[in-house]
Amino acid sequence: MKEPVKERHFGPIWFIPGDNYGVYPNCHSIYIEGDGIVIDPGSNRNRLTQLREIPGVREIWLTHWHEDHLMHLDLFDDLPLLISAPDAPPLTDLEVFMDAYGMEDSGEREYWRSVLKKEFHFRPRRPTRFLKGGDVVPLKSGNVEVLSTPGHTPGHLSFFFQTEGVLLLGDYDLSRFGPWYGDRESSIRETIRSVAHLREVPARVWLSSHEKGIFEENPGDRWDHYVSVIHERERKLIDRLRSPRTLQDILEAWILYGRRREPKAFFEFGERAHMKKHLEKLMKERKVVKDGACYRMCDG
Ligand SMILES: [Zn+2]
Repeated sequence: MKEPVKERHFGPIWFIPGDNYGVYPNCHSIYIEGDGIVIDPGSNRNRLTQLREIPGVREIWLTHWHEDHLMHLDLFDDLPLLISAPDAPPLTDLEVFMDAYGMEDSGEREYWRSVLKKEFHFRPRRPTRFLKGGDVVPLKSGNVEVLSTPGHTPGHLSFFFQTEGVLLLGDYDLSRFGPWYGDRESSIRETIRSVAHLREVPARVWLSSHEKGIFEENPGDRWDHYVSVIHERERKLIDRLRSPRTLQDILEAWILYGRRREPKAFFEFGERAHMKKHLEKLMKERKVVKDGACYRMCDG
């Protein structure tokens, strides 16, 4: 049995664990005491409701626009909402939200439209203000440096609480599964660059949005492993392309998820989104070409 992830306080920076180890569709939240800020209200609905009462919530910040990070944002409909400008549009409209994921299939969209409303309590929101990389926000609890860490989403933000030496990584979560970069505006190159950037921050505690969530020593090898997953996915894809393959052939290898999984609208979508990203990258590097419906390695 895994130990449940517990609530922890690092001075005024409170780590609020998400249900089920913060495994998607849950995520961990941060509460900043004294300032009443919740970052990513996707953790535990009861705990977030309590925090709203005591000691009180005054503002909501988001690291990025993904649904697992805003599952309980509906509890805070009346409060100011801050996010980066590039990540704001999906919050304003459910259709724009699905467009940002690159969802094209009408069946998939129908599935997600319902899930986003029912399970993730999606309601259109317009951010009150924007946060951007390089900002240093003076809070009562100390300065927080906003770090621009695109790749996962175009406007993903991480936060460095300078006084406490706490770094919130957000969705560069150092999980064994590895990074997500499957959205329309996600980028493999920027993901790698953002992980390298985060690794250089002189933190003493590292918090992430999913799973283990708290690292009190430098995550060390986990940084390397996290990035190596990207290269491993690419290696498997190249291996698969030793003979020409259609996209469908490639998807049947389940390179991302390892095996066929349900629900299809979730896992097939994720598999396809990531394989397309890798194919785009390899074509840009002139390592792969597309002949008709087939992808193949370039000769020589
Ligand atoms: Zn995310």
